[in-house]
Amino acid sequence: MQLPREVIIGNGSLQLVGDVCRELGFFENALIITGTTTKHVAAEKVAKLLDDEGLEVNCHIASSGTPTSIDVKRAEGVIEKLKPQVVFGVGGGTKIDIAKLSSAHKKIPFISVPTSASHDGMASPFASIKGLDRPYSIKAQSPMAVVADTEVIINVPYRFIASGCADVVAKFTSTRDWKLAHEKEGEYYAQYTASLALMSAQHIVENADLFKPGSEEGLRVLLEALVSCGVAMCIGGTSKPCSGSEHLFSHALDLVAPNQALHGEQCGLGAIMMAKLHDMEWETIRDTLKKVGAPVTAREVGILQEHIVEALLKAPQIRPERYTILNEKRLTRKTAYELAKTTGVID
Ligand SMILES: [Zn+2]
Repeated sequence: MQLPREVIIGNGSLQLVGDVCRELGFFENALIITGTTTKHVAAEKVAKLLDDEGLEVNCHIASSGTPTSIDVKRAEGVIEKLKPQVVFGVGGGTKIDIAKLSSAHKKIPFISVPTSASHDGMASPFASIKGLDRPYSIKAQSPMAVVADTEVIINVPYRFIASGCADVVAKFTSTRDWKLAHEKEGEYYAQYTASLALMSAQHIVENADLFKPGSEEGLRVLLEALVSCGVAMCIGGTSKPCSGSEHLFSHALDLVAPNQALHGEQCGLGAIMMAKLHDMEWETIRDTLKKVGAPVTAREVGILQEHIVEALLKAPQIRPERYTILNEKRLTRKTAYELAKTTGVID
C-alpha cells in the first residue's frame, strides 16, 4: 500500500510546499511539471517557495490539451537529464497525470499540487493518458504529498468543481459494481476501501447545498472527498472502488463523442443510468447532481442523444475484464435507449 504522507487542504496551503519538502527530506533539486496557464496561476509561486527553501528548481511546460504518451516521454527525458529528487505536478488533471506517470517510470517521488478539482486523480495512483492502447487510466504511483490550495482552485470556472462533485457521486455505482464483481466473479473486494469511496459520495449528497460558485466551504468538502477517493484507490491498489460501469460509459463516450464534456460530468450521467440498472435510487443521484450544478442531461453538455446510446452499447467492451452491471444486464439498442430516456438523460 502506497499512501500520501502529507495531505494539506486549505486557503493558502501553497505556502507550505517548502515545509513539505523539508519534512520529506528533499533539500537539493526539484522539477515542476506544469502548463502554460497553470505556470502563472501556481507553478511560479511554488518555484519561488522551493527556491527560498534552498532547492534548485526547474520547470517543464507540458503541452496543453489532452495528455499523450509523447508528453510523458518528453517529461521523462527532462527527468533523466535533470535528475531531480522530487517531481511536482502543478496544474489540472492533465499536468498532474503527466507528472505522475513520468516520475513513476523514472522512480522519482511525486508531489501533487492540483489547480483544479474536476476529478479524483489528484491523490490517486492512476493516470489517464491518451495514445496508449487503452482508453482508461493506468497505474502510475501514489503522490508522496498532496497540496491543494482552495484560494487557487476557487478561481477555476465553477463547472470544473461541479464536475469533481459528479466524479465523487459516481462512487455510488462504482462501489456497487465492485461488490457485484465480488459476488458473481469472486473478485477481490475490500469492504473498508469500498466504504471509504462510498462515504465520499455520501458526503457530497449530505453537503450538496454547500456547492456553489465562490463557496470555499463547498470546495473544501469536495477536495476532502476527492482525496478520500484517491486514498481508497491507493489502499485498494486498484481503481475499482472508484471506477465502475459509469466510468466505462464515460470512456466509451470519449471515443464516441470526444472532448464534449468533462470526465466527471460524463461519469455523473453514467451514474444516473447505471444506478437505474442496479435498481438503486437513481433519482437521489440525479437530484444531487442537479443541486451541485452538474449536468443531468446530454443536452446540457451538448452531447447528441444517439451518442449516449452508442456509448452505452460500447461501454462493456472498453474493459472486458472489469465485471459490472453491464455484464449482468446486456443492453440492446432498444433497452439502452429506454434506459437513457426513462432517466431523463435523453429526451
Ligand atoms: Zn473518475
